[in-house]
Amino acid sequence: MAKNVSKKVSSKQAPPAVSYAAIRQRAKELEADTARFLTDLVRVPSFSSKEREVIAVIRREMEQIGFDEIRVDGLGNILGRIGSGPRVIAFDGHVDVVYPGDRSQWSFDPFAPKVEDGRLWGRGAVDQKGGVATMIHAAKLIKELGLNDQFTLWFTGTVMEEDCDGLCWQYILNEDGLKPELVVITEPTNLNLYRGHRGRMEIRVEVKGRSCHGSAPERGDNAIYKIARIALEIEKLNERLRGDPFLGKGTVTISEVKSTSPSQCAVADGASLHLDRRLTAGETKESAVAEVRDAAKRAGYPDATVIVLTYEEAAYTGKVYPTEKYYPTWALDEASPYLRDAVAAYAGVLGKPPLVDKWTFSTNGIATAGMKGIPTFGLGPGNEVQAHAANEACPVEHLSAAVAFYAALVAKLNGKV
Ligand SMILES: [Zn+2]
Repeated sequence: MAKNVSKKVSSKQAPPAVSYAAIRQRAKELEADTARFLTDLVRVPSFSSKEREVIAVIRREMEQIGFDEIRVDGLGNILGRIGSGPRVIAFDGHVDVVYPGDRSQWSFDPFAPKVEDGRLWGRGAVDQKGGVATMIHAAKLIKELGLNDQFTLWFTGTVMEEDCDGLCWQYILNEDGLKPELVVITEPTNLNLYRGHRGRMEIRVEVKGRSCHGSAPERGDNAIYKIARIALEIEKLNERLRGDPFLGKGTVTISEVKSTSPSQCAVADGASLHLDRRLTAGETKESAVAEVRDAAKRAGYPDATVIVLTYEEAAYTGKVYPTEKYYPTWALDEASPYLRDAVAAYAGVLGKPPLVDKWTFSTNGIATAGMKGIPTFGLGPGNEVQAHAANEACPVEHLSAAVAFYAALVAKLNGKV
């Protein structure tokens, strides 16, 4: 997609065409309309693999703003473009939300959004339709104020993130042909700047036994005793895993145990563990699998089977795009020039230096940065502790702040502020 890079724009030293104050003021003027757009998004439930209707709402908004190109890809992601400069940047927000869970914990209908006490309430207001609404309204502001001429800017509303983070971006990078030099994630950060998070993977360990009548267990070989010994080695493995000063410690825990047996009056002939593994800096799929194999060996069962599981659910388009449940760790270098520009744009437009930190949860960055090595960082409205919680609500003033930051970042990268 990238065209030949031409540097003629920067050759003459033009005075700043716009001020941070003007960007902030225009974002504030837009705030009520951004809240209206976020309300439109929250009102349409969009669980993973059921995003068709909300994608139509986003398309309508992009059309009204006058995006230069709008397309929906085979997985159902919506990709809106403004500008056609030689360099490419993508802003990403996933459009799916988790289920409301126990409705008795909500004090209102999660899909009847409302603005009250300075907050916009509803499922997805924080995770992360606030990010989707604000990045698209930032595009409006970037067009209006003429903040961009060096970049092709893509705004991606992506699907299935809650079920399989990064799958949507594997599709965009492998199948749609986008080649961004920078990806900005709009997941909630409470308006902080985040530059990474731990990775994760899902692993199954299986052992076989030999069944026989439960009245004479000595004739058989019980798979449950084997898997129990492996489970205790997994517990010890968790204690040995390394830490990282920025991302924290790698962890492993057992989330499920299963066994099979011809009857409840028989010795179990098979058993398995489901492992939730969180990966810190330097830990890979290969290293994590090797450690689990080693745990099985320490338990005395070197022939145990260790499997990295596969995700193969269909998108709302019907497309199945299988991937291993391996979501690699990523962290953008503290000294990255993109991060330096982001910090400067933040301070310029929001009037104070940002807190630079990391997400606790996982995002599409596992694909853009973790798998493909594309510089990635993020900022989003709303506090991440509200993600997946009842009575989810996003401060309305975060909306204009996020719009202002995204627009200021583009202006900064264009050398216009
Ligand atoms: Zn999210």
